[in-house]
Amino acid sequence: MKSASPFSFPVSPALAAKLAKLGLTRDADLVLHLPLRWEDETRITPIRDLLPGETAQVQAVVTEASVAYRPRRMLTVTVEDASGVLGIRFLNFYPSHVKLFQPGASLRFSGEVRGGFLGLEMVHPRFVKADDETPLPTQLTPVYPTTAGLGQATLRKLVDRALAAPIADTLPAEWLAELDLPELEPSIRLLHRPPLECALSELESRRHPAWQRLAFDELLAQQLSLAAARRQRTSRRSPPLSPRARLTTAFARALPFALTPAQARAWQEISSDLALPHPMRRLLQGDVGSGKTVVAALACLQAIENGFQAAFMAPTEILAEQHYRKLAPGLSALGIRCAWVSGGQRKAERAAAWEAIAGGEADLAFGTHALFQEAGSFRALGLVVVDEQHRFGVGQRLALMQKGAEPHQLMMSATPIPRTLAMSFLADLDVSVIDELPPGRTPIVTKLVGAARRDDVLARVREACLAGGQAYWVCPLIEESEKLQLQTAQDTWAALSEQLSELRIGLVHGRLKPDEKQAVMAAFQAHEIDLLVATTVIEVGVDVPNAALMVIEHAERMGLAQLHQLRGRVGRGSRESVCVLLYETPLSDLARARLKVIFELTDGFEIARQDLLLRGPGELLGHRQSGLPMLRFADLERDVALLEAARDLARRCLVDHPDVAARHMERWIGPRQALTSI
Ligand code: ADP
Ligand code: MG
Repeated sequence: MKSASPFSFPVSPALAAKLAKLGLTRDADLVLHLPLRWEDETRITPIRDLLPGETAQVQAVVTEASVAYRPRRMLTVTVEDASGVLGIRFLNFYPSHVKLFQPGASLRFSGEVRGGFLGLEMVHPRFVKADDETPLPTQLTPVYPTTAGLGQATLRKLVDRALAAPIADTLPAEWLAELDLPELEPSIRLLHRPPLECALSELESRRHPAWQRLAFDELLAQQLSLAAARRQRTSRRSPPLSPRARLTTAFARALPFALTPAQARAWQEISSDLALPHPMRRLLQGDVGSGKTVVAALACLQAIENGFQAAFMAPTEILAEQHYRKLAPGLSALGIRCAWVSGGQRKAERAAAWEAIAGGEADLAFGTHALFQEAGSFRALGLVVVDEQHRFGVGQRLALMQKGAEPHQLMMSATPIPRTLAMSFLADLDVSVIDELPPGRTPIVTKLVGAARRDDVLARVREACLAGGQAYWVCPLIEESEKLQLQTAQDTWAALSEQLSELRIGLVHGRLKPDEKQAVMAAFQAHEIDLLVATTVIEVGVDVPNAALMVIEHAERMGLAQLHQLRGRVGRGSRESVCVLLYETPLSDLARARLKVIFELTDGFEIARQDLLLRGPGELLGHRQSGLPMLRFADLERDVALLEAARDLARRCLVDHPDVAARHMERWIGPRQALTSI
């Protein structure tokens, strides 16, 4: 019977499932499954010569093995060679281990040597049954990224089978010469099975030409798939929404301020994009408080003055409702009919809203993703604005696309994205940047305060509020449990209400009903509340200029983007604003690094760049990455030159050599879903 292996050789379904977890579903994937590092197992070190801190391999015989239960379950093995004795310990082990380590058994162990309590030892070394006669490897041993229950030996065997076939280069030799990159086959073989004379340090630095070739190919595949998505999009149709300068001009005139030059520039870019007959996919980036909302409102008006509807979508009810309340009055004055759709709305109210939207009586609909998850439909949707787009998942954006004719899309993000990241992961989008804040903002002073000085902070909050100001108190983030998070928020509120009894204190968290949430926010806005205790639900978009003090508890638990967003809630008026970051010690290295960045920097782009260095691109892009092949080999900081070369080549390649482009994408992306073309 022929096995149903997805590979060219038999693989059991159980093994195939484990491989699939690593994204390995065909021979070509195994070929590109490159080692994380390599071990030198070509030599045996006599036990006598072992040094603590070094990694070594010994050939030894078991003299004793026992399972202890105190202080915890542990397998202790003593081994010896002609030169000395070595202790081995396993904290996780199976009965099969115990069987293997019978006295007299001969094995090879490799791992890090430690100076233990009773002499030298190895904890969780790798081991194989072997005696003096067993030949030593003549190559460095690769260590692959793996998953639970899939051993290195199995992976190595599988990779060897996949490597049995020749590896065709996807790129013509002349191009490689021009790019000064080596051929693919020798690069891949070298990385999987480096010869002994290959210096480990050079291999590990990833600046080795073989690595550079892989990084380039990976970047090229990404650029090709993004460029293809982009081309595909420009072949689709959307209603052209030309600038008519009727509603937009009237709206801009009625604003109590003039657009900043950066806002005006972004608005021009959006306005001309909307006039094109294919779907706009533009990302509007601007730091917290840079004034993205009015620009989005202008875009909506351009759709409406062309006889189409617009949808303004925000990731949270609080934010969606705030947009609605802030924009609707000014818009109604221009004769625009606004609707409001939310998950927490009363049924009849929601039905009425949908009726207005479907019948075309509403021009502009505000709401959360409920706007696109519910059965309701638009009569003529021309534009969708997605605020804080990084908060939305890919699935949600897809659902959005399935609603009738294809509307234009304006996505907004206050998470500034460093240039290299935008060049790679967002290359299919057009980007407008608002790179200045409106005038008259006072810079925010950030203070780092150890939790031991919480009383001083309380005094400061009291003083600020009694002097007519308002403040936020942000409760610690508890990722593991929403229930615990809620509990903490309520406890914090109760404690503060007691400690600051002369203040009017409100509480807002994610579990409140939408109208309760709205009531609290409205009271805070109207200054009926002095101190607002909040979970991180206020992270996005909330705008109360009189609140100039923010305290963030357990700031060490939060990410940089989150801290920056939170801090952006203050500094919106003319008062000097202060953000107090309360932290608990001891701090992890990462937490310390993050606090240092947020303390020293206020510029969102610079913070994002540091964030990228600390965490890698995944989280910075929010949910976007789930539909995108992530970079395994390329590093956007290190490989900027390769990224630029890949981008240039991708553009030419797609037009002049579509066959090369197709072959290259087939190898790197293959049957896996390429970028969802949004
Ligand atoms: P964000 O980009 O973070 O979404 P908002 O759109 O909420 O920022 O704007 C922040 C605040 O700045 C709002 O109160 C808004 O009315 C105000 N604002 C926007 N543009 C200007 C401008 N050009 N001059 C003065 N204030 C502005
Ligand atoms: Mg905003």
